[in-house]
Amino acid sequence: MAEATTRPSGHLFIVSAPSGAGKSTLCGAARERFPNLRYSISATARPPRPGEVHGKDYFFVSEEEFKKGIEEGRWAEWAVVHGNYYGTPAEFIRNTLSDGHDILLDIDVQGAEQLMDRFPDSISIFIMPPSQEILRDRLEKRGTDDPAVIRRRMENAWKEMALKDRYRHIIVNDNLSRAVNQFIDIIDHHRRSQHDPAMGKGGGSP
Ligand code: 5GP
Repeated sequence: MAEATTRPSGHLFIVSAPSGAGKSTLCGAARERFPNLRYSISATARPPRPGEVHGKDYFFVSEEEFKKGIEEGRWAEWAVVHGNYYGTPAEFIRNTLSDGHDILLDIDVQGAEQLMDRFPDSISIFIMPPSQEILRDRLEKRGTDDPAVIRRRMENAWKEMALKDRYRHIIVNDNLSRAVNQFIDIIDHHRRSQHDPAMGKGGGSP
């Protein structure tokens, strides 16, 4: 597409949220709205959940292979989240950005900090669940994790939310359609700002 080829380097949209905050729904909506936004598929050493597809949801690798990737510098960032390894393939980020494409990454706060340091122009977005009760309810209804895993995810949620102010944008997902609109507006604003000199480069909050 013309916009992708004329731009020297793409935008990095980094999205973090505690699990159950509605991040997948928001990312899904953004991918539908912006089909040429490239989604970064992470590698993980956690086992696939029912229905998850290798190469689509994640690259599922063994812990041994993941660790080898760390030694070889294969991850642009990596972290242990809920007891499992997750990482972003560095080659994908490098090639996609230099081709001028924008990237959407769904990563945890530890990984987000690593990328914000490496790419200070990245656009970071934190999604907050409306309340602790709703978060627990969503995790339980999802039915994909056992109680111990849900407990661990709830504990992590509070640690993650404590770091929300490090992000450029914060969205409270208390109303899904409003949250989707906010999310899309933020992405749209930053994508346009590069092309419209009147709006300045990099942009601020919409
Ligand atoms: P889940 O196992 O529920 O798919 O993801 C658990 C957490 O891992 C989520 O917060 C998600 O954002 C995070 N995550 C997924 N991929 C990556 C990655 O490549 N790097 C980091 N640091 N976190 C990731």
